[in-house]
Amino acid sequence: TPFLAGNWKMHGTLAAARQLAQAVAQASAPGVRIAVFPPFVHLAAVAEALKGSPVELGAQNCYGENQGAFTGEVSPVQLKDAGCGLVLIGHSERRHVMGETDEMVAKKLKAALAAGLEPVFCLGETLAEREAGKTSEVLGRQARASLGGLAPAELARLTVAYEPVWAIGTGKTATPEQARQAHSLIRAAVSGIPRILYGGSVKPDNLASLLGQAGVDGALVGGASLDAAAFAAMIRTAAGRTA
Ligand code: PEP
Repeated sequence: TPFLAGNWKMHGTLAAARQLAQAVAQASAPGVRIAVFPPFVHLAAVAEALKGSPVELGAQNCYGENQGAFTGEVSPVQLKDAGCGLVLIGHSERRHVMGETDEMVAKKLKAALAAGLEPVFCLGETLAEREAGKTSEVLGRQARASLGGLAPAELARLTVAYEPVWAIGTGKTATPEQARQAHSLIRAAVSGIPRILYGGSVKPDNLASLLGQAGVDGALVGGASLDAAAFAAMIRTAAGRTA
């Protein structure tokens, strides 16, 4: 089953989040797994709007502890309580804008799994790393640093998202061949990963060719997931692939 995940990032009002959630629920189709990742403050309203629909709810980040004096942070247990089943961990904007390290990401993964959430663990190389021929080394390091300490049963409960940093929000998409190669490098670095999504400027017109690659199990979509019509078109594309 292809998996389409929409990362709404830090966009929109409460009213817009409710509307988008309703539109995604209406567009949902059999044979496609769909999840949306609204900002923290919109989670409760989106959970309400998605009631009775198969669309799953996730958060964009969490802290690596379940409670305590961590002002401004949100714990995996709180996310679960708010109706989330999933959480993005190690998104490139967290790593590169907010300074998250592999160690922080590994801690968050453990805490999210312990709380019963499905982490969507993100990793990817920068343009400089790719141009220096270090893609394989970087993906291997990121994958092993965060996933290496997990038990096989924990690994079986997570989703990986390969997101080349140079493709996120830039309009530059990895070629289907680049995506296929990177997914296979990640699988070679850590065995037992159940599914790997591709992310980075996925749009209605490039989704089919990416999903057509062996080992590309779905897409993590940022910008285009905020456009209800574009996301609905991508759901139809993904559904067509299994029909
Ligand atoms: C993302 O936010 O994970 C992402 C891939 O963004 P975009 O689709 O806008 O490049």
